[in-house]
Parts: sequence; structure tokens; C-alpha cells
Amino acid sequence: MPQQSARTSEANREAVDHDVIVIGAGFSGINAGIRLREQEITDFIILERADDVGGTWRDNTYPGCACDVPSHLYSYSFEQNPDWSTTYSGSAEIQAYIQRCAEKYGLHEHLRFGVGIASAEFDDERGVWRLRTEGGDFYTARAVVSAVGGLVEPSTPKFAGMDEFSGAIMHTARWNHEVDLHDKKVVIIGTGASGIQVIPSIAPDVAQLTVIQRSAPYVLPKADKALPEAMKATFRRIPFAQTAFRRAILTITEGLVGPAVILDSPLATGMKKLALWNMRSAVKDPVLRDKLTPDYEIGCKRVLFASNYYPALTRDNVTVETEGFDRFTANGVRLADGREIEADVVITATGFKVNIAEPPFPILGQNGEALADKWAGPGGKAYKGVATAGVPNWFFMLGPNTGPGHTSVLIYTEAQARYITEAIRTLLNKDLTAIAVKPKVMRRYHEKLQNRMRYTSWTSGCQSWYLDAHGENHTLFPGLATEYALSMRRFKLGEYEVAR
Ligand code: NAP
Repeated sequence: MPQQSARTSEANREAVDHDVIVIGAGFSGINAGIRLREQEITDFIILERADDVGGTWRDNTYPGCACDVPSHLYSYSFEQNPDWSTTYSGSAEIQAYIQRCAEKYGLHEHLRFGVGIASAEFDDERGVWRLRTEGGDFYTARAVVSAVGGLVEPSTPKFAGMDEFSGAIMHTARWNHEVDLHDKKVVIIGTGASGIQVIPSIAPDVAQLTVIQRSAPYVLPKADKALPEAMKATFRRIPFAQTAFRRAILTITEGLVGPAVILDSPLATGMKKLALWNMRSAVKDPVLRDKLTPDYEIGCKRVLFASNYYPALTRDNVTVETEGFDRFTANGVRLADGREIEADVVITATGFKVNIAEPPFPILGQNGEALADKWAGPGGKAYKGVATAGVPNWFFMLGPNTGPGHTSVLIYTEAQARYITEAIRTLLNKDLTAIAVKPKVMRRYHEKLQNRMRYTSWTSGCQSWYLDAHGENHTLFPGLATEYALSMRRFKLGEYEVAR
């Protein structure tokens, strides 16, 4: 609950509670807090609607949940961990890492749990943001960092007959650990990044697993190995060795995976062959091979990594259905061709409501203009993904067009945390009322970005969560992470309209 001292009552709205409010305590929000303290900006709070830090790694606890980016790259560059147990860590280990970081960098005095923000409004005259919580309290601050995450709310399609089903239904991101899958008949809908991790993890335990696949993913082999003690000891003794290892992984993702995933290039052809080899080496049945062969170009949807996925699909107790999902029934599900499949449990691995390019809640900027209206037609846009014209002193982390398709998202968010804290330091030190990116600067940046988008694999003709209803990509950055990070090195006040 918000602390009384930090809460603005109706009668005391004149005072500003804090210099900065960070919304969200996942990887991004914690990073922002660490940078703020580093810049000696200490009058800030981090509001988190749940009861712990961690974001996606707190919420996703499904069997097999792990990161498909190597841990030495999927961690803060300034807080390397020599003790990762495997190449690709599981969600619990990543969650423990985030908790350790929050502790080590002294963020607990800034964290306020159980506070969800419902709306935000900018006071032009005073240059103050007023945030209303879901509980009806108010907080004010001179600057806000929105670090709410891009894939947070589970998306479960409204399938017909869900209410009639007598068994359990659960989404991967809201796993119900009370539901016992042992020897049960299970149906899973969806074969994205989450689905392909759950399937091999539960297949040996359940009686029957039916996989309902709408689109076949490209799945590359994942070299997931326990890391030797000698390696950990070396990294502990010689931190530079770990930095070099991290850079080597970054070089591979930037030099090989990036061009292969982002552009239709010879590297993409090579990657496609590798993914099809991964499938064919495990699957000998031509009918199943046919079902598992994607009908779109590699990179168009997120390329996945797993070495245990295809072998799991060849098990006697696993069936892949591609006829389309019709509806739930009392005892299971019905496919589009009329066949009924009995089920005790149905798992929806159907992804998330994507809010990378959507306001997370109503945000009223200058002159009371709603950000939702600005972004409604043309889609979400922000300068370098962090700042939007007409929305002063408000900074997004993982905002429009800053998601990666090929490497660690933390390369992007670390660069954002640095840039944003520099912007906030400028605002506070120069005692400015408001800074808002110039519309022309933002427009030029966005036009350039969207021009490049035309040459990417993401717009090569498939449906994915990368694209909005108009087929435009406002979620991913159409280049390499290093390019983005370099572009974020300096905050330039000249690119912003300033009110004193
Ligand atoms: P997703 O990639 O959006 O996959 C959703 C799956 O559900 C797709 O196979 C989709 O089919 C299917 N689906 C959706 N609606 C359906 C319907 N009405 N009927 C039948 N099938 C339906 O979601 P996700 O697997 O949860 O992954 C989302 C993102 O989370 C990933 O792209 C990634 O960024 C992140 N993630 C990362 C990791 C990691 O290891 N780093 C792990 C998990 C998740 P279509 O493809 O045909 O739409």
C-alpha cells in the first residue's frame, strides 16, 4: 500500500511528492532506479502493482519457463553474474537475480508495492504529473518513467463454449500450480515462445497431450548446457573474462542472428535451413514434418530456440492438430473439422496484449490532450522510443519501436535508462518546468524508422504480434541493438521544447 507520507490527499495537491516516479519494477524499472541513484537523484519512488519486483519473470512460472537469450547477455552489463547455472537460465533464477539487484542497489526504500496506476495527467502550469492509483490515491512528480513492460496482460481469445468446459483452463503467464497434470489429458493452444517451452516440459508427465497449432514456428537448436564450475570460478576471479564472453555473445547475435532475422539475406536462408534441419532430424514422419513446416519466411514471426521441442512432438502421447480450433465443449474441445478431443486441462499459450505502442492507461499530456488520441490512427510513436511530443517530462522504457527481434532486450533498456536519467537530471538541475520532444524531431525520426521497416522480414506477409491492425510495425527496432544503443549515448536538450 502507498505510504501515507508519500500520498497526496485531495486537500494537499499543491505539494509535489517526488522529483521522479518510476512505474513498474521489472528489469526496466529496477534499471531506472539504479541509474537515478547513480545520478544522485534520490527523491524518487518505484510504484509496482504486484507484491514483488521481477515483472515478466515474477509472473511467468510455467514449467520450462526460461529465457532464450543466453544469461550472460540477458543480465545487466554493470551487474554481471558469474554464477548462472546454465547457458539459458530458468525464470526462477532470473527472478532471484532481479531481486538481488534491487537489494544490492538499495532500491527497497524506494519501492512501493500494491500500487497500480489508473491514469496520469500533466499540469502545464506547474510542470507536474499527477498519477491516480487504482485505489483512488494520488501521487505527484516532476518526471515520470513508465517502465510497465510490453507483454504483460495475457491474451486469451474468447473461444466459444469456454464456460461449458468442466475442466481447468489456464494461461501460460498465469500458471495455476494447484492444477495437477500428472496422467491427465491436456490440450495446449499455441506454439509460440511460451508454448514450445511448456510442451516438452509436461509431455513426459501427462497421459495425452494435444497441441493445437495455428502457425508452425521456425525453431532453431538451443545449446542449453550446465555451466562448468571452472568457468564460474574464472568469471569470479577475472570479471573481464566474463565481459569478453558477454561481448562475444553480443557479437554473434548482432553479426549473425540480427541480419538473418531482420532482413531477407543469405544469412536468413542459412538460418531457415538450420531450423528445417532441426525439425527434420527429430521428426521422421512425413505427415508431421509437413504440419511443422512454416508457410512464411523466417524472421517474419519471432524465431524460436529449443532442442527438446521437436523430439517431444514425436512422443506416442503427443498429437499435433492443425485443422483449426472450433470451440470448447463440456468434456474438452472441438476442432474445425468436427472432431472432439477430450481434455481435463486446456492450456492457452496464446500470447499477450501487446502494449509497446499503446498507452498503458489514460495519459493526458499538454493541454489535456490524450496520448491515446495522438496514437490512435497512425500508431504509437516516440522519439528513440522514449519521448513523445506533447507529453512533457514523461519517458517510456521499452516504448514504440524499441523491441528486439534477435538479441537481449536489456541492451535497449539499459541505453534508455541512461538517456532518460540524463534527461531528468537536466530537467531538475536546470530547474525547468517542462521538456517535451519537438514534434518535428519526433516526426523525422519516426518516418526514417518506418521507411526502413519496409525492408524487414517482419513485413514480409505474415500475421504476428509485431504488427498492428494496419499491418504496421510499431513494436520492433529495424536495426541492430548496438546501433540503437549508440544513438542513445547523449541526451540533447536542443531536440526538446523547453518551458521554464
Ligand atoms: P505468441 O508468440 O504470441 O504465441 C501465441 C501462440 O498462440 C501462437 O502460436 C499463435 O498462433 C497462437 N494463437 C493465438 N491466438 C490463437 C487462436 N485464436 N487460435 C489458435 N492459436 C492461437 O505468445 P508467447 O508464446 O507467449 O510469446 C510472446 C512473446 O513473449 C515472445 O515472442 C517473446 O517475446 C516473449 N517470450 C520470450 C520467451 C523467452 O524465452 N525469451 C519465452 C516466452 C515468451 P499464430 O502464430 O498463428 O498467431
